[in-house]
Amino acid sequence: MPSSAPVAAADGRLLDIRDLRVEYLTPRGPVVAVDGVSFSIAPGEVFGLAGESGCGKSTIAHAILRTLRPPAVITGGEVLFRGRDALDLEGAELEAFRWKDVSMVFQSALNSLNPVMRVSDQIADVLIRHEGVSRQAAHARAGELLDTVGIARNRLHAFPHELSGGMRQRVVIAIALALRPPLMIMDEPTTALDVVVQKDILQQIGDLKAEMGFSILFITHDLSLMVEFSDRIGVMYAGKL
Ligand code: ADP
Ligand code: MG
Repeated sequence: MPSSAPVAAADGRLLDIRDLRVEYLTPRGPVVAVDGVSFSIAPGEVFGLAGESGCGKSTIAHAILRTLRPPAVITGGEVLFRGRDALDLEGAELEAFRWKDVSMVFQSALNSLNPVMRVSDQIADVLIRHEGVSRQAAHARAGELLDTVGIARNRLHAFPHELSGGMRQRVVIAIALALRPPLMIMDEPTTALDVVVQKDILQQIGDLKAEMGFSILFITHDLSLMVEFSDRIGVMYAGKL
């Protein structure tokens, strides 16, 4: 069993968000973007977060990972991960939480690869930096990870611009999987792709999840995709769930 096999808190929850509140302090006054939201995710579960554009989905994702930028402020609530409040983490603990406990595939994932670095180096760097493995071992793992997400190993040394949009998105998912985090947050992970590629990638993520046992917070405004892919769904409207 991998060392990061999902372990839940004593109450059986991996992630437990309680009464989360986030405001954007704009010059025209505070805007409440997340207004007392609570939900939990069990190990191995896909929790779908749906709702129209602007209702606060991405703000929740960034609040969990603590990647919100000013003028956003978390004004209340708890983000319990295995029973511990992630809002209290700092320094090395926060860094470990962001990479090893939770990984994120952003809405803009297609642009989140470094255009001047080979795909192999981008994956290997994550492994070298966070697991301290040798460059050689990291490259071997990078090849395995690309296999896992359905990319032929002969593309290992490609640059991002040499790959299709769907392949680039698979690379981003491979990077998110590299450290075997028990929770993946996917914010509109396939929105920029055509429908056939979308289904194919989600199918593959579903297979990987079944094999590795991680949980997913799956964010999309596409309800039919969400229903197909999620175990449970929360629908947001104007900051409330
Ligand atoms: P979603 O991901 O559901 O489309 P977001 O979480 O991105 O929604 O945004 C939720 C709300 O937060 C928006 O409707 C907007 O009012 C507010 N908001 C988001 N980003 C900012 C910002 N940088 N400054 C001010 N308000 C913001
Ligand atoms: Mg969003």
